[in-house]
Amino acid sequence: MPPYKEQGVVLRSIKLGEADKIVTIMTQGSGKVRAVAKGIRRTTSRFGARLEPFTHVNLMLYRGRGALDTVTQAEILAPHRAIREDLALFAAGETMLEAVDRVAEEHERNVRLVVLLLAGLRALEARPNDPAAVAESFVLKLLSLAGFHPSLGACAVCGAPGAPLWSAGHGGAVCRADADRGAAPVDPQVLTVLAELATADLAAAGRGLAADPRVRRAARALLFGFAEYHLERRMRSVPLLASTAP
Ligand SMILES: [Zn+2]
Repeated sequence: MPPYKEQGVVLRSIKLGEADKIVTIMTQGSGKVRAVAKGIRRTTSRFGARLEPFTHVNLMLYRGRGALDTVTQAEILAPHRAIREDLALFAAGETMLEAVDRVAEEHERNVRLVVLLLAGLRALEARPNDPAAVAESFVLKLLSLAGFHPSLGACAVCGAPGAPLWSAGHGGAVCRADADRGAAPVDPQVLTVLAELATADLAAAGRGLAADPRVRRAARALLFGFAEYHLERRMRSVPLLASTAP
């Protein structure tokens, strides 16, 4: 098998044996790729810190026979170092990486997801005032890309305006007639916050968002409850995000 070139963002990096790591990379052309980086944990490794999470890299890889490819070369395009050096930025960035890891399919090209991820990391690099709002806006955009756009005003089932209840299973806001047993009342201010975050430019998300912290917290809980329901996984980064957010 000939080597192939890719560029992408490192989502995860876990130890393997004495000196190696398995890295998960969201690539431009090959979707999510899992690969072994041999000798990466030796001090003399030619990879150094190039395969840390958040890093945008140019890669040379060999396709493996099993699930794992092998990285043979890595060169940094953008280190996104600022994200690793500030807890609120890190929490927001982790949420983005985790959500992308969950949605992306291995070896299935998804350029829009890569573009979204790079835009999200760039927005965090600019040190926004409200990194959690950037992460929440990112998750809303990612849900839409993945086909799970939540209904944030009209009933998700019949389209009636001003739906007063919320049901993750039905796709967001629902009217009383369409409510299932899991539906619960939702504060209209919470839906307004989520709708603003959904349409905000990532770089400006949270700017001018005049919601009180109670509404922000309720909106966050609703959003991640919805994301976990549709992505079928707990988001491990959410407690850290909540602890650093307004
Ligand atoms: Zn309805």
